[in-house]
Amino acid sequence: MRLVLVGPPGAGKGTQAEVIADELGVPKISTGDIFRANVSGGTPLGLEAKRYMDAGDLVPDEVTNRMVADRLAQDDAQGGFLLDGYPRNTEQAEVLDRLLAEQGHALDLALELTVADDEVVRRLSGRRVSKSTGKVYHLEFDPPEDPESPDLYQRSDDQPETIKNRLKVYAEQTEPIIGHYEAQGKLVRIDAVGEVGSVTDRAMAAIRDRTAE
Ligand code: ADP
Ligand code: AMP
Repeated sequence: MRLVLVGPPGAGKGTQAEVIADELGVPKISTGDIFRANVSGGTPLGLEAKRYMDAGDLVPDEVTNRMVADRLAQDDAQGGFLLDGYPRNTEQAEVLDRLLAEQGHALDLALELTVADDEVVRRLSGRRVSKSTGKVYHLEFDPPEDPESPDLYQRSDDQPETIKNRLKVYAEQTEPIIGHYEAQGKLVRIDAVGEVGSVTDRAMAAIRDRTAE
């Protein structure tokens, strides 16, 4: 199964991707996670990406597309993958289509997680991440055992001004890819509000429907 998750920042893509990839037995490929690992590691890619991430802007396509092409060329992605956070504009969606076509493959499904803006802001503002495990919590919706633990941090781009810009970037640059996948008959939309488990159930049902077609 070759699958992409689409949805605004804070829609729960990372949360769902973890479980869905596991159920499908495919690697979860999160461009945000790869960029953050490079920022932490101080690599040239991380240094390049950081200024865009800090502002809530997209990292340039040239850098991002090359990084994704390298990742998709790895052995574990040959039988399928779940992309989280990519593509994020029409150019990236077209590059992905071409990349897969060159390998004789095609995307099976683009799953859109829909959540209203005010809910997204609440989710992003309360998001906390464990330094040691990478697990993502929410102060209210999925509280960590000790909210004051020094192991927890808040992503630097989860600040109000940056959140505002990320939502603007989503509306202006990322939303058009929904039309791209709709035109290909690959888009399935699910309601991403409610318990994490209920959202996963809806996602898995949509994926099963598509596999059965
Ligand atoms: P994304 O990867 O789309 O940016 P995340 O998966 O990191 O989003 O989720 C954003 C925040 O919302 C996290 O703090 C997460 O714990 C929380 N969250 C995820 N799914 C739900 C849900 N169904 N209901 C409430 N909060 C959620
Ligand atoms: P995310 O973890 O998906 O919220 O991504 C965090 C940040 O990483 C984004 O705000 C961008 O700056 C950058 N990023 C992640 N994925 C992409 C992408 N596909 N294209 C450009 N920038 C990206």
